Amino acid sequence: MTPRLPHSADPNSADVVIAGAGVVGASVAYWLTRLDPSLSVVLVERDRSFAQASSSRSASSIRQQFSHPLNIRMSQFGLAFLREMGIAVEEKGYLYLGAAAQLRALHSTQRAHGADVVLMNPEEIKQRFPWISVEGVEQGSLGLSGEGWFDGPALHAEVLRRAREGGAQLVDGEVQGFERDAGGRVRAVQLAGGSRIACGHAVNAAGPWARRLAAAAGILLPVHARRRTVFVLSCPERLPDCPLVIDPSGFWFRPEGKFFLAATTPDPDQDDLPLEPNYAEFSEELWARMAHRVPAFAALRVERAWAGYYEMNLFDANAILGAHPAAPNLWFANGFSGHGMQQAPAAGRGLAEQILHGRFESLDLAPLGFQRLIEGRPLAEANVIG
Ligand SMILES: Cc1cc2nc3c(=O)[nH]c(=O)nc-3n(C[C@H](O)[C@H](O)[C@H](O)COP(=O)(O)OP(=O)(O)OC[C@H]3O[C@@H](n4cnc5c(N)ncnc54)[C@H](O)[C@@H]3O)c2cc1C
Repeated sequence: MTPRLPHSADPNSADVVIAGAGVVGASVAYWLTRLDPSLSVVLVERDRSFAQASSSRSASSIRQQFSHPLNIRMSQFGLAFLREMGIAVEEKGYLYLGAAAQLRALHSTQRAHGADVVLMNPEEIKQRFPWISVEGVEQGSLGLSGEGWFDGPALHAEVLRRAREGGAQLVDGEVQGFERDAGGRVRAVQLAGGSRIACGHAVNAAGPWARRLAAAAGILLPVHARRRTVFVLSCPERLPDCPLVIDPSGFWFRPEGKFFLAATTPDPDQDDLPLEPNYAEFSEELWARMAHRVPAFAALRVERAWAGYYEMNLFDANAILGAHPAAPNLWFANGFSGHGMQQAPAAGRGLAEQILHGRFESLDLAPLGFQRLIEGRPLAEANVIG
């Protein structure tokens, strides 16, 4: 751990200042204070209500069905962490429907990394989920345990609570820039209104707004705020044991209490659209595709909808975790591209280890670092839910 500032309750200085107290910033603060209780950690948050934060607008689901082992491992840790925090997971699984060759290839990687998943042929799918139509489906892949959904805002609140209990201070404010020395190291963060907090380290945990903050340090971060509308639907028929279904035509749905949630990837997919649901995305065409997959969905009704920002990493749709070589003590935990709720625990622990010990100690997250962007080597992940 490099230069430590004298420990004090004064928020004019801290060992680590984190911009953004969503689930990711809160997790970094939690792990820092857990790994070193003597550390002074300040979370700067511009909106304590978290009204627009992705952490408040998530579908809060967790899966192991990724193609990259690192994503599988991060989510496995996410699951263990949820259990440790006492947050219940509705373990109904994800059901991926698609082409046999592709799902089989992913299956062997997932099994090799301990994911409890099973391949199903169309007859087996039909037997287990009689309400589904398997027309056009070659193969299914179902998570038998360790996948499902949970109360995301409850996870966020609990991690933030524990971080503060561990000594992290939550300060109202907006980080606007960084004071840096000749070597690029951050000496202080600058807040709107003109105040500053001197720090040994700074963390960008600004979620969908992270690109703007990175630009304030002259760093190009390919993280874009992409609006996603989630529809809350009612259907007169119950669908027993319904998992989170990923349809190959490009939509997903899952139960939520007596309702269903569903979303699709908008086309075109533009930056920074206002955070209002776009009801037009629930088109006749989407409805027809949903009713094709689940005939009972012919009677769907849209009850309401909400919108949130995916923090899309347009380089390779995976998290960017670590410092940029031009600013060795400015840390990034951004660009989770639709899987940040489940990865926040592992990302927070990994970044805390880096800041404190200069290396990853539990899970090697180095492949998620900036180096791949600098070298133009995307980290391929086949299972991105756009
Ligand atoms: C519709 C939707 C569905 C999703 N579904 C899933 C899912 O099923 N599973 C999953 O794992 N993930 C899912 N995600 C993704 C997940 O919600 C996000 O990856 C995660 O919440 C990101 O957390 P964060 O803390 O980085 O960002 P946020 O929660 O957005 O927090 C960032 C915080 O930074 C603050 N801030 C920004 N700029 C500044 C600044 N300059 N100074 C001070 N504060 C600042 C903001 O006010 C905000 O509170 C979904 C996201 C959406 C939108």
